[in-house]
Amino acid sequence: MVNTTRRQFLASSAGVAALGLSGQFAVFTSAQAAELREKGHYSYKVGDIEVISIYDGIWQNKGFGNFVVDVSEEQVKNALNDAGLGTEYIPIEFAFTVVKTGGKTILLDAGTGGQLAPTAGLAARGGLEAAGITPDMVDTIMISHMHPDHIFGLMEKDTNAQIFPNAELMVSETEYNFWTDPGIIAKLPESRQGLAKRIQATFPVWDNVSQFSGEKELAPGITAMASPGHSPGHTSFHLNSGDEEVLLIGDAMLLPALFLTNLDWQLAFDADKDQATATRQAIVERAVADNVTIGGYHFGFPNVGTIEKDGSGHAFVPVKV
Ligand SMILES: [Zn+2]
Repeated sequence: MVNTTRRQFLASSAGVAALGLSGQFAVFTSAQAAELREKGHYSYKVGDIEVISIYDGIWQNKGFGNFVVDVSEEQVKNALNDAGLGTEYIPIEFAFTVVKTGGKTILLDAGTGGQLAPTAGLAARGGLEAAGITPDMVDTIMISHMHPDHIFGLMEKDTNAQIFPNAELMVSETEYNFWTDPGIIAKLPESRQGLAKRIQATFPVWDNVSQFSGEKELAPGITAMASPGHSPGHTSFHLNSGDEEVLLIGDAMLLPALFLTNLDWQLAFDADKDQATATRQAIVERAVADNVTIGGYHFGFPNVGTIEKDGSGHAFVPVKV
């Protein structure tokens, strides 16, 4: 049973076993990473829990100028280049997670569903099945937040029919209430109004949706941790079994190359930029202090690794099985 409190999660604690997964991983080369993207998944263990990371493709975002608040296109390109990512586009890669625990198959988010960039949607086009997971096998889907790249994989493009009809969908109450409030549509920027309408046409009429609040163990070894800012009810998932743990932070940090290297940079489309920055900084502080293995939805692939000291700052070091 996980005893990590939110306070410990955000503030580091000697009382929490935090051995990471260093025994199971070795550093990945870029050639191996390319091969892994081609394969589309990798698996690892957190104690007794089996975890599979699913690659869902990439959005080659060329919107350099309005990605980071008050940071120039040149600065963004320099940061990407320094991380070996080139300067052609901002690589927004997508990776969600399958967790097998307590006899259940659980997804953490559901991918883009092939309804965003044409270069994304690999999971819906056979990638999930290639990892041995069929929709009927999925018992539960825990949602980090209700942005398109995390929930469109739940529903068919034209009909909104559910792709995982047998699964219970779990989402934080704060996130659910925000997006399903009929009054929110008029208050949102135009670019988000379609999303709110689609959520309001689906989640409230589906009968397999449940909500959680606060820090809560949602399944054996999976604890929801509020990590707001990117969206109002954004949730991270802490996996813990035995003395091993992994913290999957969703979109609390988008690209380490930009936002880990520059902990004060703010993502232009974070809902509450100051709150998101504080959340991100607290997560990094905890991960560094306790050497916690972390994973991000947009960290590239592999999307799990450790935060290492790099000069005066930090760098994300992806790992492999
Ligand atoms: Zn996202």
